[in-house]
Amino acid sequence: MTEYSIFSVLRHGLSGNKGWKPTWRKGEPKPAYDVIVVGGGGHGLATAFYLAKEHNIRNVALVERGWIGQGNVGRNTTIVRSNYDLDENQKFYEWSMKLWEGLSHALDYNVMFSQRGVLNLANSPAQLDRYAERGNGMRLNGIDAELLGVDEIAKLCPGLDVSPKARFPVVGGLLQPRAGTARHDAVAWGFAHAADRLGVDIIENCEVTGFLNEGDRVVGVATRRGEIRAAKVGVAVAGMTSEVLRMAGIAKLPIETHVLQAFVTEPLKPLINCVVTFGGGHMYVSQSDKGGLVYGGNLDYYNSYAQRGNLPVVHEVATELLACFPNVGKVRLARSWGGLVDMTMDGSPIITTGPLPGMYLNTGWNYGGFKATPASGWCFAWTIASDGPHVLNAPFTLERFHEGRVIDEWGTGPTPRLH
Ligand SMILES: Cc1cc2nc3c(=O)[nH]c(=O)nc-3n(C[C@H](O)[C@H](O)[C@H](O)COP(=O)(O)OP(=O)(O)OC[C@H]3O[C@@H](n4cnc5c(N)ncnc54)[C@H](O)[C@@H]3O)c2cc1C
Repeated sequence: MTEYSIFSVLRHGLSGNKGWKPTWRKGEPKPAYDVIVVGGGGHGLATAFYLAKEHNIRNVALVERGWIGQGNVGRNTTIVRSNYDLDENQKFYEWSMKLWEGLSHALDYNVMFSQRGVLNLANSPAQLDRYAERGNGMRLNGIDAELLGVDEIAKLCPGLDVSPKARFPVVGGLLQPRAGTARHDAVAWGFAHAADRLGVDIIENCEVTGFLNEGDRVVGVATRRGEIRAAKVGVAVAGMTSEVLRMAGIAKLPIETHVLQAFVTEPLKPLINCVVTFGGGHMYVSQSDKGGLVYGGNLDYYNSYAQRGNLPVVHEVATELLACFPNVGKVRLARSWGGLVDMTMDGSPIITTGPLPGMYLNTGWNYGGFKATPASGWCFAWTIASDGPHVLNAPFTLERFHEGRVIDEWGTGPTPRLH
């Protein structure tokens, strides 16, 4: 029985909307659980949900240092896609896409998943050849991909400058029609809601300040609200991974924290009806349901834990937006913000047991962990429950960096800011 059906909306509406239950309970920490998940972002919440739903592990505490949705899960540009190049990434992100397609029903919460298509623009014949190669690889893995010519792009995206005189003339593009966007806050709230209803304690304002050990085994966490013990502790703290693992004595990880900004304009009438990415520079844009153009681009290119960026990137990304859509030149920027992204040495994530006994690690989401949220939680829950990886996340180990089996989607080598 769905909690947010048309019938309950009517019933509660007629009784003054006083009978709604909170979307999730304000959990109080108990002394011990079967599993603790550290980090109440999308990945931690999805992990807690799938632990309860898929593995029937319901005695779970999710501890979040602030409030649900304060991190990157509520700061991203909401793009969801599985148009990757490498086999490992294609399979993992396509599984995520399949979970997205049923997510609102699975969570009993509308995450506003909109399959409006993601279009990668090609600005040179060589780039178009690479897209053709990528599209073929995607199709071999059962992922939808279409190579478009300029006329088809003009029809699909009327505001885009496709004239030969454009600053960066468009020669074609790769479209993934099933890709699109989802409402990021709703994803956090939906996972929190569904995990709560399965019995998970979601404990906000509960920063982890240390780990409890017996020998070299992790047996719980110290928090600002006291100690909590558990046989298994999963860490999914995105940009704060290095700092949190330092508390467990892990001083070196193949991760750097960088700032990534996002921008939203004032609301406009419908103008851009799919997600457009411009890889000749680096810019991606879509239009939110409220009408604002939501766009972003490169990192700020320095390590930082500040959730704000600097003006050169504001300028750079706006310039690229205007090169593609000159007709928005007079539109005002309404808001911008930054988030802390966990960039790895090969641009691919880490979902693994360890690095200490009793600990499990989920990190390395680079520019693109929002789209991974369902599959990441699903695979991490599997890894925690079974003490080993699922076949989908088996390649995403920490050891790959020692063994030289890197999954380098962009081929840019061990320079995190370039992935
Ligand atoms: C501007 C921007 C745009 C982006 N755009 C996209 C996009 O379009 N598509 C896409 O796929 N991805 C995108 N991303 C990436 C994506 O948002 C992240 O990869 C993903 O959200 C990270 O996982 P998370 O949701 O679990 O992180 P978070 O939401 O950051 O969750 C981590 C949580 O851990 C908590 N935490 C930290 N330390 C502690 C502690 N000591 N104790 C307890 N809790 C702690 C934090 O408070 C935080 O809530 C973007 C990121 C940014 C910043």
